Amino acid sequence: MMKWEDNVRRAVPYVAGEQPDRPGMIKLNTNECPYPPAPGVAKMARQMNWEQLRLYPDPDSGILVNALAEYHHVKREQVFVGVGSDDVLSLAFLTFFNSGRPILFPDVTYSFYDVWARLYGIPYITCALDENWHICPGDYCRPNGGVIFPNPNAPTGLLEGLDVVEEIAAANEGVIVIVDEAYVDFGGISALPLLNKYDNLLVVRTFSKSRSLAGLRVGYCIGNERLIRYLNDVKFSVNSYTMNLPSQRLGAESVKDEAYFRATTEKIIASRERTKGELARLGFTFPDSRANFIFASHAGVPAKQIYQALREKDIYVRYWDKPRISESLRITVGTDEQMDRLVKELETYIKKS
Ligand code: PMP
Repeated sequence: MMKWEDNVRRAVPYVAGEQPDRPGMIKLNTNECPYPPAPGVAKMARQMNWEQLRLYPDPDSGILVNALAEYHHVKREQVFVGVGSDDVLSLAFLTFFNSGRPILFPDVTYSFYDVWARLYGIPYITCALDENWHICPGDYCRPNGGVIFPNPNAPTGLLEGLDVVEEIAAANEGVIVIVDEAYVDFGGISALPLLNKYDNLLVVRTFSKSRSLAGLRVGYCIGNERLIRYLNDVKFSVNSYTMNLPSQRLGAESVKDEAYFRATTEKIIASRERTKGELARLGFTFPDSRANFIFASHAGVPAKQIYQALREKDIYVRYWDKPRISESLRITVGTDEQMDRLVKELETYIKKS
C-alpha cells in the first residue's frame, strides 16, 4: 500500500454491459433500440453550425428543457436534464438522499443504485421482491431516507400499477420517492399524472431506449418546481455545463417526432410479444415484461451455459452471476430478424443439451 492510499475515496464501480463491435453480431445485452433515431436528428446534425462549439453550451439546456416541458405539458421549471438518466439519478441521490436514514429499493433492481449509495455514503436497505418478482408496497411504508425503484423494474421487466406507486408516494411524504421510468415507453404506465398530487415524487426518464439515443447521453426528470430547484443547485455546484450543445439540439429534435417515436416503440412491443411466444415454446419462463427486454430462465439448461453458447455465435445477452438472478438471462428485444436468429440458436442449443 502507498502511504496516501488510506485517504482515497474507494468505490466499487458499476459494471456496464460490454460494447462489442463486430460485423454481423447481434447485440441484445444493454437494452439499446435496434432502430435509428428519428430522421430529424440526423438532419439537424447535418445542419448544425459546428463553429459554435467554440462557445460553452447553454448551462440551463433551455432548448431541450423547453421541448420536454411542452411535450409533457408541465412548466419548464419542473424539468431537469442530464447526461443520460444515470447523471440525473446520481445527482438526485446526492441531492435528496441526505437524511442519514437508510433509503429503500428492491433487492432485484438496477444495479447502479447501490453503487451511488455507497459512493455518497448513503445507508440503504433492499426490500425483497415477492416470489413473482413484484414489489411488496408495504415494505416501503416504514421510516426511511427515501425510496427509488424502476417501473417497469429492471431486469425483470415487470410493471407495477399506479396504485402501488401511489401507495408508496403517499406513505413517504417526508422523503423523496424516485420512480425510474427508463422503460415506461414500451407499454408501461407513467407516474407523471401523480405529480399534481405528490410533491415528493420525482419521475426519471431517458432517451437511451425508446428514442434510440443511448450514444447521445440524454436523460431528464420531472417533479415539483422546488424539488427541481434543489437539484439544479447541486448540479451547478458540480458542473455548470453538463450537457453539450449537440445533445441539447439533437435531443430537442427527437422530441418533435411523435409519429416516429410511436412507430418505433410499437415495433419493439410487437417483437417482444412475438419473442415471448417463441421462448415459451422452447421451455423458457419469464415475468410478463412491459419493457424492451425479457428476463428468461430455462428449467433444463443453466442460464450461464446458454449465455456462453450464444456468445460463441456472436449473440450477446446479459447475464449476472448474482443471488436470485443467476438462473436468468436478460435479453434485449431487437428487430424481428435478430430475434428469429436468437430463437433459432436457442432451439439448436437446447435440443443438444
Ligand atoms: N435506469 C435503468 C433502470 C436502466 O436500466 C438504465 C440503463 N442502464 C438507466 C437508468 C440509465 O440509462 P441512461 O443513463 O442511458 O439514461
